[in-house]
Amino acid sequence: MTAAPGLPRFADALSRFVFEHTAVRGALASLDVCCRDILACHAYPPALRRVLAELLAAAALLASTLKFNGSLIVQLRGDGPVRMLVVECDAALALRATAQWRDDAESLPATTDLATLAGSTARSRLAITLDPKDGGPLYQGIVGLEAASVATLIEHYLTTSEQIESRVVLATDGDRARGLLLQRLPGAGAADDAAWEIAAAAASAMTSADLLDAPGPAALLGAHFPAADIRLFEPRAAHFACGCSETRIGNALRLLGRAEVDGILAEQGRVGATCEFCNRQYTLTAAQARALFADDPRPDAGLRAAPAGGLPH
Ligand SMILES: [Zn+2]
Repeated sequence: MTAAPGLPRFADALSRFVFEHTAVRGALASLDVCCRDILACHAYPPALRRVLAELLAAAALLASTLKFNGSLIVQLRGDGPVRMLVVECDAALALRATAQWRDDAESLPATTDLATLAGSTARSRLAITLDPKDGGPLYQGIVGLEAASVATLIEHYLTTSEQIESRVVLATDGDRARGLLLQRLPGAGAADDAAWEIAAAAASAMTSADLLDAPGPAALLGAHFPAADIRLFEPRAAHFACGCSETRIGNALRLLGRAEVDGILAEQGRVGATCEFCNRQYTLTAAQARALFADDPRPDAGLRAAPAGGLPH
């Protein structure tokens, strides 16, 4: 194996790799500090923490396959203990997450799977949205929750939506998340079949402990794919960052509508809003709030209905 020089610690990084001379590629995601920081934004129940941690690793792996400068958004809508969750990863590997859950989610075992958290498989959906951010069209793939594990769902998404045969292994201890993505490149010939079968079998045999205990990408790949000639690219840093700002909060309040904002001002004399991702509190004075509608003085300007799930960021 050839490894990039100066490999950093196996933390908060995404490392892409290729199997030389074969049509197999992959990526390893390791989220430590950033995973803890994201999960610390809200008092998530243990089962939801684990699922969010896995989805954060999955989002970083999926983002590694993108070729545009946009965002990847994984969104769950369910009717079970978890009503909604969102995990985002942009091209710079900035990650954030949020969720809404019922009280009964608190008492579920930490190992409760995503499908159970989401409730009815008939009405629950995992949507994976690619937002190019440059004016290009949104792409959205919908995955039913027939499979229980996040890894299986992401594999299913890649195989059906992207039509790339893939293996995904995810692991978390509730604080850290690690993930392995292995893909067979499109157009691979029959000569690559054997290499893919061996690599896919090794990935499938990988345990959570294998991923969590590995000292680094090179050691992990060397131990599990000993016969492969692997080229490991320079890792890219992943981090927790939220794109919320006073401007975005102002835009959200505009969508809420002047009548609604006037009602809040009449009651409280100011408007408070909390970013549902990072929990940052924003407070607008009456003058600041009224200035949002300065160009449209009609009392019913904007939409009256609050967006589902609270104020967008
Ligand atoms: Zn925020």
